[in-house]
Order: sequence, then C-alpha cells, then structure tokens
Amino acid sequence: MGFCGTRLNVGTKLIGGRPNEGNFTWYDDPLPTNCVGDWVCPGGTGCGYPEYSYSKKAEYGYKNQAVFFHSCTFNCLFCQNWHYRTQSTKRGKKGPDFIVNGVDERTACICYFGGDPTPHLPYAIHTSKLALEKKKGGILRICWETNGAMNPKLLEKVAELSLISGGCVKFDLKTWDEGLHFALCGVSNSWTLANFKHLAGLLPKRPDPPFLLASTLMVPGYVDELEIGQIAAFIASLNPDIPYSLLAFHPQFQMQDLPPTSRKQAQRCLEAARSAGLRRVKVGNLHLLT
Ligand code: SF4
Ligand code: SF4
Repeated sequence: MGFCGTRLNVGTKLIGGRPNEGNFTWYDDPLPTNCVGDWVCPGGTGCGYPEYSYSKKAEYGYKNQAVFFHSCTFNCLFCQNWHYRTQSTKRGKKGPDFIVNGVDERTACICYFGGDPTPHLPYAIHTSKLALEKKKGGILRICWETNGAMNPKLLEKVAELSLISGGCVKFDLKTWDEGLHFALCGVSNSWTLANFKHLAGLLPKRPDPPFLLASTLMVPGYVDELEIGQIAAFIASLNPDIPYSLLAFHPQFQMQDLPPTSRKQAQRCLEAARSAGLRRVKVGNLHLLT
C-alpha cells in the first residue's frame, strides 16, 4: 500500500486514543540536531540556561529522543515523510516504557513528530509525564512538531508539558488560503489557525526559550510569497517575535512532478515574511534549494 485512498483521517482510527499503546519508531539524535527549532531552542543555542539547558551554548554531548509516529490526520500531497504509510516501514504497537526506558542522563529533549503526533496525543501526553517523572530534578524538554489540528483539550496538555519543561510546540502552517489547504492537505486549516492563536496567548507565561514556533513548506507554484506573506502577517499580528522557518520543498509523494524550491523563491518568501513584520525568520533545508 503506497498511500491510503481517503483524504481524511488517514491511519488515525486504530490506536490513536490509547494512552498505553503507540505506533512509532524512535532514535537518539545527538544535539545540536537538524530540528525545525534548533536555531532558537536550548538544544541548538543554549538559551534558557541553566533552568532549561545543560549548556550555555549548543548542547554537545547530549541527545534528543526523536519519536516518529506512524500516523497523521492530514493527507498532504507534498508529504515529505510519507514513507510511514508503506508496509516496509517498521511498525508495532508499543507501551510508554519503550520510550521512558530510553531516557537517560544524556537525554535533554523528546521531540514527537512523524507523521504527526495528533492521533497519538493521549499516548504522548501520558508517556511525557512518566518521562518527566523519571528525570525529576534534571532537564528534559518536551517538544512537538505538528499540523496543529488537535482537540483543544488535548492542546492544553501539550502546551502545559512544553511550558513546564522548557520545550516548544512547532506548528506547520501549510497555507493561508483555506481552499488551497483543502486541495493540498484534504482538510481545512481553521482548527490549526485557531489552535495557533490560542497558544500565542500563552507566550507571556514563558517568553524564553521560545515556546511557540511556526514553519511552512515553500511548495513551488502553490505556496509562494503571497501565501507566505499572509501567514506571516497572521503570526506577526499575534506576536512579531514568534520564530518562523521557511522550509525548502523536495519532490515527494504525490508531487514528484514539481521542481525543488528555488533560491529565488526562497528569497522572495523570506522578504515577504519580514515585510509582514516578523523579526525572526529563517530559511531551512538550504541544501535542497536549487
Ligand atoms: S526537540 Fe526541542 S529542544 Fe530538542 S532540538 Fe528540537 S526544538 Fe530543540
Ligand atoms: S506533511 Fe505532515 S501533516 Fe501532511 S500528511 Fe505528511 S506528516 Fe501529515
């Protein structure tokens, strides 16, 4: 099975609501790492030291526990991590111990991504609490990389775990135009935007290290400087210091006929985001630009 035929709730119904059972793989990722937030987070910069970081600079010698969930609530045509849908991807349902046992004195953060953590939030929340208990008195940041379309009640718990641990929530804001979002991702972006706005209201609770981050994939011909400018204006209206990463697209999944993001497009998008009022903008995945 290369991909699921339906465009909604792909792979979410089987195990997503179970706090003791998850479908994922994980690996230790030495810090500093290629994380969407590495340019502003404790793992990459040492910000938040000593309460939230082991080092005044990048946390060399420590590691991120990267948890890749094999599920998602969107079905994006440009999915850059679509391999989790294939049979060849190593699968299996595992309890919280599978993650918690891997947390040791060198583990500085856990990053839930995938796929997306949204279908597995009861599991990830439960597991995070156990992991924080294990590292009581030490540092263990809880971070999320997500499409942001989760139940607001679960979002509260996600936010709390990140706020108390020095971690962050990274929202992928895929488009501004709702019709375009439907066309590319199979769902509306209304929940994502509403959830992002809600989290921005929590920023005063912990201004540093940054608690809320955003990113957008610059898909040629679809997500251009016009889209980026509108997304950036939305973010800036909430808080102009929210870090925003512009990510280079690489032909994948159902969009293999498109070219990679060009340097010219990336430059135009960067200027649009800055012109919209954002003070912390970066182009990521530079090696993919053509
Ligand atoms: S998981 Fe969080 S703290 Fe760790 S490198 Fe990524 S953004 Fe930084
Ligand atoms: S790009 Fe992200 S949100 Fe979209 S289908 Fe892939 S994993 Fe899910």
